[in-house]
Amino acid sequence: MNRDAVTSIAEAIEKMKPQFTSLSDSIWDFAELKFDEKQSSGLLAETLEANGFAVTRGVAGMETAFIGEFGQGQPVIAILGEFDALAGMSQAAGIAEHRPLASGGTGHGCGHNLLGVGSLMAAIALARHLKDNSIAGTVRYYGCPGEEGGSGKTFMVRAGLFDDVDTALTWHPAPFNGVRSTNNLAVLEYFYRFKGVAAHASNAAHLGRSALDAVELMNVGVNFLREHMPQDCRVHYAITDTGGRAANVVQAQAEVVYLIRAPEMPQALDLVKRVDKVARGAAMMTETDVEIVFDTASTNLLPNITLETAMHENMVALGPIAFDEADLDFAKSIQDTFTEEAIKSSIRLYQIKGDVFSNARVDGATPLHLGLREFEGHSHFRAGSTDVGDVSWVTPTAQCWTPTWAIGTNPHTWQVVAQGKSAGAHKAMAHAAKAIATTGLSLMTSPELLAAAKAEWAEKTDGQAYICPIPAEISPAVHSPKVK
Ligand SMILES: [Zn+2]
Repeated sequence: MNRDAVTSIAEAIEKMKPQFTSLSDSIWDFAELKFDEKQSSGLLAETLEANGFAVTRGVAGMETAFIGEFGQGQPVIAILGEFDALAGMSQAAGIAEHRPLASGGTGHGCGHNLLGVGSLMAAIALARHLKDNSIAGTVRYYGCPGEEGGSGKTFMVRAGLFDDVDTALTWHPAPFNGVRSTNNLAVLEYFYRFKGVAAHASNAAHLGRSALDAVELMNVGVNFLREHMPQDCRVHYAITDTGGRAANVVQAQAEVVYLIRAPEMPQALDLVKRVDKVARGAAMMTETDVEIVFDTASTNLLPNITLETAMHENMVALGPIAFDEADLDFAKSIQDTFTEEAIKSSIRLYQIKGDVFSNARVDGATPLHLGLREFEGHSHFRAGSTDVGDVSWVTPTAQCWTPTWAIGTNPHTWQVVAQGKSAGAHKAMAHAAKAIATTGLSLMTSPELLAAAKAEWAEKTDGQAYICPIPAEISPAVHSPKVK
Protein backbone atom coordinates (compact mmCIF):
# COMPACT_ATOMS: atom_id res chain seq x y z
CA MET A 1 0.00 0.00 0.00
CA ASN A 2 1.08 3.55 -0.58
CA ARG A 3 3.42 4.81 2.11
CA ASP A 4 1.73 8.21 2.44
CA ALA A 5 -1.53 6.56 3.41
CA VAL A 6 0.23 4.36 5.99
CA THR A 7 1.95 7.42 7.47
CA SER A 8 -1.23 9.47 7.49
CA ILE A 9 -3.21 6.75 9.31
CA ALA A 10 -0.36 6.12 11.76
CA GLU A 11 -0.13 9.83 12.60
CA ALA A 12 -3.88 10.14 13.03
CA ILE A 13 -3.90 7.20 15.46
CA GLU A 14 -1.01 8.71 17.46
CA LYS A 15 -3.12 11.87 17.90
CA MET A 16 -6.09 9.79 19.07
CA LYS A 17 -3.97 7.97 21.66
CA PRO A 18 -4.56 10.05 24.82
CA GLN A 19 -8.38 9.83 24.59
CA PHE A 20 -8.41 6.13 23.76
CA THR A 21 -5.82 5.28 26.40
CA SER A 22 -8.16 6.61 29.04
CA LEU A 23 -11.05 4.67 27.46
CA SER A 24 -9.05 1.44 27.70
CA ASP A 25 -8.12 2.24 31.31
CA SER A 26 -11.81 2.79 32.17
CA ILE A 27 -12.72 -0.61 30.71
CA TRP A 28 -9.83 -2.12 32.73
CA ASP A 29 -11.42 -0.51 35.83
CA PHE A 30 -14.94 -1.84 35.03
CA ALA A 31 -13.60 -5.40 34.52
CA GLU A 32 -17.07 -6.70 33.62
CA LEU A 33 -17.72 -10.41 33.06
CA LYS A 34 -19.16 -12.02 29.92
CA PHE A 35 -22.55 -10.64 28.86
CA ASP A 36 -22.52 -8.23 31.79
CA GLU A 37 -20.29 -5.65 30.06
CA LYS A 38 -22.86 -2.84 30.24
CA GLN A 39 -20.53 0.03 31.10
CA SER A 40 -17.76 -1.16 28.77
CA SER A 41 -20.01 -1.68 25.75
CA GLY A 42 -21.85 1.57 26.58
CA LEU A 43 -18.62 3.61 26.49
CA LEU A 44 -17.43 2.01 23.25
CA ALA A 45 -20.81 2.53 21.55
CA GLU A 46 -21.01 6.18 22.69
CA THR A 47 -17.51 6.83 21.33
CA LEU A 48 -18.54 5.42 17.97
CA GLU A 49 -21.62 7.66 17.91
CA ALA A 50 -19.54 10.70 18.80
CA ASN A 51 -17.43 9.88 15.75
CA GLY A 52 -20.32 9.71 13.30
CA PHE A 53 -21.05 5.96 13.40
CA ALA A 54 -24.68 4.75 13.37
CA VAL A 55 -24.90 2.34 16.31
CA THR A 56 -27.34 -0.55 16.81
CA ARG A 57 -27.34 -1.91 20.36
CA GLY A 58 -28.51 -5.23 21.74
CA VAL A 59 -27.95 -7.24 18.54
CA ALA A 60 -28.28 -11.07 18.27
CA GLY A 61 -30.25 -11.22 21.50
CA MET A 62 -27.36 -9.95 23.64
CA GLU A 63 -27.80 -6.69 25.53
CA THR A 64 -24.08 -5.86 25.36
CA ALA A 65 -23.54 -6.76 21.69
CA PHE A 66 -23.60 -3.84 19.25
CA ILE A 67 -22.60 -2.75 15.77
CA GLY A 68 -21.40 0.69 14.68
CA GLU A 69 -21.44 1.52 10.98
CA PHE A 70 -19.82 4.33 8.98
CA GLY A 71 -19.79 5.07 5.25
CA GLN A 72 -21.70 3.35 2.51
CA GLY A 73 -21.50 0.80 -0.23
CA GLN A 74 -18.96 -1.91 -0.89
CA PRO A 75 -16.74 -3.26 0.40
CA VAL A 76 -17.96 -3.85 3.96
CA ILE A 77 -15.01 -4.25 6.33
CA ALA A 78 -15.77 -5.64 9.81
CA ILE A 79 -13.45 -4.80 12.69
CA LEU A 80 -13.99 -6.99 15.76
CA GLY A 81 -13.64 -5.79 19.36
CA GLU A 82 -13.90 -7.66 22.68
CA PHE A 83 -14.19 -6.15 26.16
CA ASP A 84 -15.02 -8.84 28.74
CA ALA A 85 -12.95 -9.62 31.84
CA LEU A 86 -12.35 -12.80 33.85
CA ALA A 87 -13.50 -13.94 37.28
CA GLY A 88 -10.90 -14.27 40.05
CA MET A 89 -8.37 -12.12 38.19
CA SER A 90 -8.39 -9.00 40.37
CA GLN A 91 -4.94 -7.42 40.42
CA ALA A 92 -3.40 -3.97 40.89
CA ALA A 93 -1.98 -2.32 37.76
CA GLY A 94 1.61 -1.24 37.26
CA ILE A 95 3.27 -3.49 39.83
CA ALA A 96 5.25 -6.69 39.45
CA GLU A 97 3.79 -8.64 42.34
CA HIS A 98 0.54 -10.50 42.83
CA ARG A 99 -1.75 -8.11 44.70
CA PRO A 100 -5.52 -8.48 44.13
CA LEU A 101 -7.55 -5.27 44.45
CA ALA A 102 -10.50 -7.26 45.78
CA SER A 103 -10.49 -10.84 46.96
CA GLY A 104 -12.26 -12.97 44.34
CA GLY A 105 -12.75 -9.88 42.14
CA THR A 106 -12.69 -9.67 38.36
CA GLY A 107 -9.82 -8.50 36.16
CA HIS A 108 -8.76 -8.10 32.55
CA GLY A 109 -6.65 -11.26 32.46
CA CYS A 110 -6.75 -11.50 28.66
CA GLY A 111 -6.20 -7.81 27.85
CA HIS A 112 -9.64 -7.30 26.30
CA ASN A 113 -9.70 -3.71 27.60
CA LEU A 114 -6.91 -3.08 25.07
CA LEU A 115 -8.44 -5.34 22.40
CA GLY A 116 -11.81 -3.57 22.28
CA VAL A 117 -10.30 -0.09 22.26
CA GLY A 118 -7.49 -0.88 19.78
CA SER A 119 -10.08 -2.15 17.31
CA LEU A 120 -12.23 0.92 18.01
CA MET A 121 -9.31 3.26 17.21
CA ALA A 122 -8.78 1.35 13.95
CA ALA A 123 -12.45 1.65 12.93
CA ILE A 124 -12.59 5.39 13.69
CA ALA A 125 -9.23 6.16 12.03
CA LEU A 126 -10.23 4.20 8.92
CA ALA A 127 -13.64 5.94 8.79
CA ARG A 128 -12.01 9.39 9.01
CA HIS A 129 -9.52 8.48 6.30
CA LEU A 130 -12.32 7.29 3.97
CA LYS A 131 -14.25 10.50 4.54
CA ASP A 132 -11.25 12.82 4.10
CA ASN A 133 -10.20 11.09 0.89
CA SER A 134 -13.70 10.40 -0.52
CA ILE A 135 -13.15 6.64 -0.64
CA ALA A 136 -16.27 4.47 -0.97
CA GLY A 137 -16.96 1.61 1.40
CA THR A 138 -18.42 0.71 4.78
CA VAL A 139 -16.54 0.30 8.07
CA ARG A 140 -18.31 -1.69 10.76
CA TYR A 141 -17.19 -2.10 14.35
CA TYR A 142 -18.58 -5.29 15.90
CA GLY A 143 -18.85 -4.99 19.68
CA CYS A 144 -18.51 -8.67 20.57
CA PRO A 145 -19.39 -9.57 24.17
CA GLY A 146 -18.65 -12.75 26.09
CA GLU A 147 -15.52 -14.03 24.35
CA GLU A 148 -14.46 -15.77 27.56
CA GLY A 149 -16.60 -18.89 27.59
CA GLY A 150 -19.65 -17.21 26.09
CA SER A 151 -18.95 -17.37 22.34
CA GLY A 152 -20.63 -14.01 21.69
CA LYS A 153 -19.42 -13.94 18.07
CA THR A 154 -20.83 -17.40 17.47
CA PHE A 155 -24.30 -16.04 18.24
CA MET A 156 -23.66 -12.92 16.14
CA VAL A 157 -22.71 -15.16 13.20
CA ARG A 158 -25.78 -17.36 13.77
CA ALA A 159 -27.96 -14.22 13.68
CA GLY A 160 -26.62 -13.46 10.19
CA LEU A 161 -24.85 -10.23 11.21
CA PHE A 162 -21.83 -11.02 9.02
CA ASP A 163 -23.78 -12.09 5.94
CA ASP A 164 -22.95 -8.98 3.88
CA VAL A 165 -19.40 -8.54 5.23
CA ASP A 166 -16.51 -8.76 2.73
CA THR A 167 -13.70 -9.34 5.26
CA ALA A 168 -13.16 -9.18 9.01
CA LEU A 169 -10.07 -7.93 10.84
CA THR A 170 -9.05 -8.09 14.48
CA TRP A 171 -6.07 -8.48 16.83
CA HIS A 172 -5.17 -9.79 20.26
CA PRO A 173 -2.75 -8.60 22.98
CA ALA A 174 0.34 -10.83 23.12
CA PRO A 175 3.99 -11.09 24.10
CA PHE A 176 5.02 -10.64 20.45
CA ASN A 177 4.56 -8.39 17.44
CA GLY A 178 3.33 -9.69 14.13
CA VAL A 179 0.96 -11.91 12.22
CA ARG A 180 1.08 -15.54 13.24
CA SER A 181 -1.22 -17.70 11.17
CA THR A 182 -2.95 -20.27 13.36
CA ASN A 183 -5.75 -22.77 12.88
CA ASN A 184 -7.15 -22.91 16.41
CA LEU A 185 -9.20 -25.89 17.46
CA ALA A 186 -12.96 -26.27 17.26
CA VAL A 187 -14.43 -26.64 20.74
CA LEU A 188 -17.66 -27.98 22.25
CA GLU A 189 -18.59 -27.73 25.92
CA TYR A 190 -21.02 -30.09 27.66
CA PHE A 191 -22.19 -30.68 31.20
CA TYR A 192 -22.67 -34.29 32.29
CA ARG A 193 -25.16 -34.36 35.17
CA PHE A 194 -25.49 -37.65 37.04
CA LYS A 195 -28.40 -38.48 39.34
CA GLY A 196 -28.33 -41.37 41.83
CA VAL A 197 -29.87 -42.23 45.16
CA ALA A 198 -28.77 -40.83 48.52
CA ALA A 199 -28.21 -43.18 51.42
CA HIS A 200 -26.20 -43.47 54.63
CA ALA A 201 -22.73 -44.24 53.33
CA SER A 202 -22.05 -46.82 56.03
CA ASN A 203 -25.15 -48.51 57.37
CA ALA A 204 -27.25 -48.38 54.15
CA ALA A 205 -24.59 -48.07 51.47
CA HIS A 206 -26.12 -50.93 49.47
CA LEU A 207 -29.22 -48.78 48.94
CA GLY A 208 -27.23 -45.81 47.61
CA ARG A 209 -26.35 -45.16 43.97
CA SER A 210 -23.47 -42.71 43.82
CA ALA A 211 -23.51 -39.94 41.22
CA LEU A 212 -20.00 -39.00 42.33
CA ASP A 213 -18.79 -42.54 41.54
CA ALA A 214 -20.27 -42.07 38.07
CA VAL A 215 -18.34 -38.81 37.56
CA GLU A 216 -15.12 -40.48 38.70
CA LEU A 217 -15.66 -43.50 36.44
CA MET A 218 -16.49 -41.24 33.52
CA ASN A 219 -13.26 -39.32 34.02
CA VAL A 220 -11.24 -42.56 34.25
CA GLY A 221 -12.93 -43.81 31.09
CA VAL A 222 -12.19 -40.61 29.19
CA ASN A 223 -8.60 -40.68 30.37
CA PHE A 224 -8.29 -44.13 28.76
CA LEU A 225 -10.09 -42.87 25.63
CA ARG A 226 -7.41 -40.17 25.34
CA GLU A 227 -4.90 -42.69 23.98
CA HIS A 228 -7.23 -43.64 21.15
CA MET A 229 -8.29 -40.27 19.81
CA PRO A 230 -6.62 -38.24 17.03
CA GLN A 231 -3.48 -36.70 18.46
CA ASP A 232 -4.43 -33.09 17.69
CA CYS A 233 -7.63 -33.40 19.74
CA ARG A 234 -7.89 -32.21 23.33
CA VAL A 235 -10.30 -33.21 26.10
CA HIS A 236 -10.34 -31.67 29.59
CA TYR A 237 -12.76 -31.52 32.45
CA ALA A 238 -13.61 -29.91 35.77
CA ILE A 239 -15.90 -31.38 38.43
CA THR A 240 -18.46 -28.65 38.97
CA ASP A 241 -20.59 -30.48 41.56
CA THR A 242 -19.21 -33.24 43.79
CA GLY A 243 -22.61 -33.78 45.36
CA GLY A 244 -21.76 -32.40 48.77
CA ARG A 245 -19.12 -32.33 51.48
CA ALA A 246 -20.42 -35.09 53.74
CA ALA A 247 -18.42 -38.32 53.38
CA ASN A 248 -21.10 -40.27 55.23
CA VAL A 249 -23.71 -39.61 52.53
CA VAL A 250 -23.86 -41.37 49.16
CA GLN A 251 -23.92 -38.45 46.73
CA ALA A 252 -27.22 -38.34 44.87
CA GLN A 253 -26.13 -35.81 42.28
CA ALA A 254 -22.82 -34.79 40.71
CA GLU A 255 -21.73 -32.88 37.63
CA VAL A 256 -18.65 -32.63 35.45
CA VAL A 257 -18.05 -30.18 32.59
CA TYR A 258 -16.06 -31.22 29.53
CA LEU A 259 -14.32 -29.21 26.82
CA ILE A 260 -13.84 -31.31 23.71
CA ARG A 261 -11.56 -29.90 21.01
CA ALA A 262 -10.51 -31.04 17.55
CA PRO A 263 -8.92 -29.49 14.43
CA GLU A 264 -12.35 -29.33 12.73
CA MET A 265 -15.91 -29.22 14.04
CA PRO A 266 -17.14 -32.51 12.47
CA GLN A 267 -14.20 -34.29 14.16
CA ALA A 268 -15.07 -32.62 17.49
CA LEU A 269 -18.70 -33.76 17.11
CA ASP A 270 -17.50 -37.34 16.49
CA LEU A 271 -15.36 -37.20 19.61
CA VAL A 272 -18.33 -35.94 21.64
CA LYS A 273 -20.24 -39.10 20.65
CA ARG A 274 -17.42 -41.23 22.12
CA VAL A 275 -17.27 -39.17 25.33
CA ASP A 276 -21.07 -39.50 25.61
CA LYS A 277 -20.72 -43.31 25.39
CA VAL A 278 -18.23 -43.26 28.27
CA ALA A 279 -20.68 -41.12 30.29
CA ARG A 280 -23.53 -43.58 29.61
CA GLY A 281 -21.22 -46.47 30.50
CA ALA A 282 -20.38 -44.81 33.81
CA ALA A 283 -24.10 -44.32 34.48
CA MET A 284 -24.77 -47.98 33.69
CA MET A 285 -21.98 -49.17 35.99
CA THR A 286 -23.29 -47.11 38.88
CA GLU A 287 -27.02 -47.50 38.15
CA THR A 288 -27.38 -43.74 37.94
CA ASP A 289 -28.91 -41.55 35.23
CA VAL A 290 -26.97 -39.07 33.15
CA GLU A 291 -28.24 -35.93 31.48
CA ILE A 292 -25.98 -34.44 28.79
CA VAL A 293 -26.39 -30.66 28.48
CA PHE A 294 -24.83 -28.61 25.68
CA ASP A 295 -23.25 -25.39 26.90
CA THR A 296 -21.27 -23.65 24.18
CA ALA A 297 -19.15 -24.11 21.05
CA SER A 298 -16.80 -22.34 18.66
CA THR A 299 -15.60 -23.42 15.24
CA ASN A 300 -11.90 -23.78 14.41
CA LEU A 301 -10.15 -20.79 12.86
CA LEU A 302 -9.82 -20.75 9.09
CA PRO A 303 -6.68 -18.77 8.28
CA ASN A 304 -6.56 -16.52 5.23
CA ILE A 305 -2.95 -16.28 4.08
CA THR A 306 -3.78 -13.58 1.49
CA LEU A 307 -5.20 -11.25 4.14
CA GLU A 308 -2.49 -12.15 6.65
CA THR A 309 0.21 -11.37 4.09
CA ALA A 310 -1.36 -7.95 3.45
CA MET A 311 -1.51 -7.27 7.19
CA HIS A 312 2.11 -8.32 7.65
CA GLU A 313 3.24 -6.05 4.82
CA ASN A 314 1.49 -3.12 6.47
CA MET A 315 3.20 -3.97 9.76
CA VAL A 316 6.55 -3.94 7.95
CA ALA A 317 5.67 -0.49 6.56
CA LEU A 318 4.68 0.76 10.03
CA GLY A 319 8.10 -0.08 11.46
CA PRO A 320 8.96 -0.82 15.09
CA ILE A 321 7.01 0.37 18.14
CA ALA A 322 8.68 3.23 20.02
CA PHE A 323 9.13 1.51 23.38
CA ASP A 324 11.34 3.50 25.77
CA GLU A 325 13.55 2.57 28.73
CA ALA A 326 10.67 2.88 31.19
CA ASP A 327 8.57 0.42 29.13
CA LEU A 328 11.48 -2.03 29.07
CA ASP A 329 12.17 -1.62 32.79
CA PHE A 330 8.58 -2.41 33.75
CA ALA A 331 8.47 -5.37 31.35
CA LYS A 332 11.71 -6.63 32.88
CA SER A 333 10.25 -6.46 36.38
CA ILE A 334 7.24 -8.50 35.18
CA GLN A 335 9.55 -10.93 33.42
CA ASP A 336 11.45 -11.45 36.68
CA THR A 337 8.29 -13.13 38.04
CA PHE A 338 8.52 -15.88 35.38
CA THR A 339 10.71 -18.94 35.36
CA GLU A 340 13.39 -19.33 32.70
CA GLU A 341 11.32 -22.22 31.36
CA ALA A 342 8.21 -20.04 30.91
CA ILE A 343 10.18 -17.40 29.00
CA LYS A 344 11.79 -19.97 26.72
CA SER A 345 8.46 -21.69 26.16
CA SER A 346 6.86 -18.38 25.16
CA ILE A 347 9.61 -17.68 22.63
CA ARG A 348 9.24 -21.22 21.25
CA LEU A 349 5.44 -21.18 21.20
CA TYR A 350 5.15 -17.90 19.33
CA GLN A 351 8.32 -18.47 17.30
CA ILE A 352 9.63 -15.02 18.19
CA LYS A 353 12.80 -15.22 16.17
CA GLY A 354 14.38 -14.13 12.92
CA ASP A 355 13.30 -10.55 13.27
CA VAL A 356 12.17 -8.58 10.19
CA PHE A 357 13.73 -5.31 11.35
CA SER A 358 16.93 -6.34 13.04
CA ASN A 359 17.33 -9.91 11.82
CA ALA A 360 18.45 -10.68 15.36
CA ARG A 361 17.25 -13.67 17.37
CA VAL A 362 15.20 -12.94 20.45
CA ASP A 363 16.70 -14.90 23.31
CA GLY A 364 14.81 -13.58 26.29
CA ALA A 365 17.40 -10.90 26.98
CA THR A 366 14.93 -8.29 25.73
CA PRO A 367 11.84 -8.15 27.94
CA LEU A 368 9.60 -6.75 25.16
CA HIS A 369 9.53 -7.88 21.55
CA LEU A 370 11.11 -4.87 19.84
CA GLY A 371 10.98 -6.11 16.28
CA LEU A 372 8.48 -7.84 14.02
CA ARG A 373 8.04 -11.58 13.68
CA GLU A 374 8.64 -12.98 10.21
CA PHE A 375 5.53 -14.18 8.40
CA GLU A 376 6.04 -17.70 7.10
CA GLY A 377 3.04 -17.79 4.75
CA HIS A 378 1.60 -20.94 6.33
CA SER A 379 -0.43 -21.79 9.41
CA HIS A 380 0.57 -23.25 12.76
CA PHE A 381 -1.26 -25.63 15.06
CA ARG A 382 -2.65 -23.81 18.08
CA ALA A 383 -4.31 -25.78 20.86
CA GLY A 384 -6.57 -22.93 22.02
CA SER A 385 -9.97 -21.97 20.62
CA THR A 386 -11.63 -18.64 19.84
CA ASP A 387 -15.01 -17.47 18.60
CA VAL A 388 -13.13 -15.51 15.90
CA GLY A 389 -13.18 -18.99 14.28
CA ASP A 390 -16.92 -18.71 13.67
CA VAL A 391 -16.47 -15.40 11.87
CA SER A 392 -13.70 -16.89 9.72
CA TRP A 393 -16.12 -19.52 8.32
CA VAL A 394 -18.53 -16.89 6.97
CA THR A 395 -16.09 -14.22 5.75
CA PRO A 396 -12.31 -14.06 5.11
CA THR A 397 -10.75 -13.08 8.45
CA ALA A 398 -7.27 -12.04 9.62
CA GLN A 399 -5.73 -10.94 12.89
CA CYS A 400 -2.44 -9.67 14.22
CA TRP A 401 -0.79 -9.58 17.62
CA THR A 402 1.14 -6.76 19.25
CA PRO A 403 3.45 -6.86 22.28
CA THR A 404 1.28 -5.44 25.05
CA TRP A 405 2.98 -7.92 27.43
CA ALA A 406 6.52 -8.89 28.42
CA ILE A 407 7.91 -11.98 26.70
CA GLY A 408 6.93 -14.99 28.81
CA THR A 409 3.50 -13.64 29.77
CA ASN A 410 0.67 -16.12 29.48
CA PRO A 411 -2.98 -15.13 29.05
CA HIS A 412 -5.29 -15.46 32.05
CA THR A 413 -2.63 -14.59 34.63
CA TRP A 414 -2.27 -11.74 37.11
CA GLN A 415 0.72 -10.50 35.12
CA VAL A 416 -1.61 -9.66 32.20
CA VAL A 417 -3.86 -7.60 34.48
CA ALA A 418 -0.81 -5.86 35.99
CA GLN A 419 0.36 -4.82 32.50
CA GLY A 420 -3.12 -3.79 31.29
CA LYS A 421 -2.66 -0.06 31.93
CA SER A 422 1.05 0.27 31.21
CA ALA A 423 2.45 2.84 28.78
CA GLY A 424 3.98 0.02 26.75
CA ALA A 425 0.60 -1.74 26.45
CA HIS A 426 -0.99 1.50 25.25
CA LYS A 427 1.69 1.87 22.57
CA ALA A 428 1.16 -1.72 21.42
CA MET A 429 -2.62 -1.15 21.37
CA ALA A 430 -2.21 1.89 19.10
CA HIS A 431 0.13 -0.16 16.92
CA ALA A 432 -2.53 -2.85 16.48
CA ALA A 433 -5.00 -0.12 15.52
CA LYS A 434 -2.56 1.07 12.84
CA ALA A 435 -2.10 -2.46 11.47
CA ILE A 436 -5.87 -3.02 11.25
CA ALA A 437 -6.74 0.42 9.83
CA THR A 438 -4.06 0.24 7.14
CA THR A 439 -5.11 -3.28 6.18
CA GLY A 440 -8.74 -2.13 6.03
CA LEU A 441 -7.64 0.64 3.70
CA SER A 442 -5.63 -1.82 1.56
CA LEU A 443 -8.84 -3.82 1.11
CA MET A 444 -10.91 -0.72 0.37
CA THR A 445 -8.50 0.50 -2.28
CA SER A 446 -7.38 -2.75 -3.88
CA PRO A 447 -10.21 -4.78 -5.46
CA GLU A 448 -7.57 -7.34 -6.51
CA LEU A 449 -6.54 -7.97 -2.89
CA LEU A 450 -10.15 -8.31 -1.80
CA ALA A 451 -10.89 -10.70 -4.67
CA ALA A 452 -7.82 -12.80 -3.86
CA ALA A 453 -8.80 -13.04 -0.16
CA LYS A 454 -12.30 -14.12 -1.16
CA ALA A 455 -10.96 -16.64 -3.68
CA GLU A 456 -8.77 -18.24 -1.00
CA TRP A 457 -11.74 -18.41 1.38
CA ALA A 458 -13.94 -19.96 -1.33
CA GLU A 459 -11.30 -22.53 -2.15
CA LYS A 460 -10.90 -23.58 1.50
CA THR A 461 -14.65 -23.73 2.20
CA ASP A 462 -15.91 -24.90 -1.21
CA GLY A 463 -17.75 -21.59 -1.15
CA GLN A 464 -19.97 -22.74 1.72
CA ALA A 465 -20.25 -20.75 4.93
CA TYR A 466 -20.26 -23.02 7.98
CA ILE A 467 -22.40 -22.12 10.97
CA CYS A 468 -21.39 -23.56 14.33
CA PRO A 469 -23.90 -26.31 15.27
CA ILE A 470 -25.29 -24.68 18.40
CA PRO A 471 -28.71 -26.19 19.09
CA ALA A 472 -31.47 -23.76 18.06
CA GLU A 473 -32.91 -23.66 21.58
CA ILE A 474 -29.61 -22.39 23.03
CA SER A 475 -29.53 -18.62 23.43
CA PRO A 476 -26.79 -16.38 24.82
CA ALA A 477 -28.96 -15.82 27.90
CA VAL A 478 -28.00 -19.25 29.24
CA HIS A 479 -24.43 -17.99 29.51
CA SER A 480 -25.26 -14.86 31.45
CA PRO A 481 -23.47 -14.75 34.81
CA LYS A 482 -26.76 -13.74 36.41
CA VAL A 483 -28.60 -16.73 35.00
CA LYS A 484 -25.94 -19.37 35.53
ZN1 LIG B 1 -8.55 -13.14 24.86
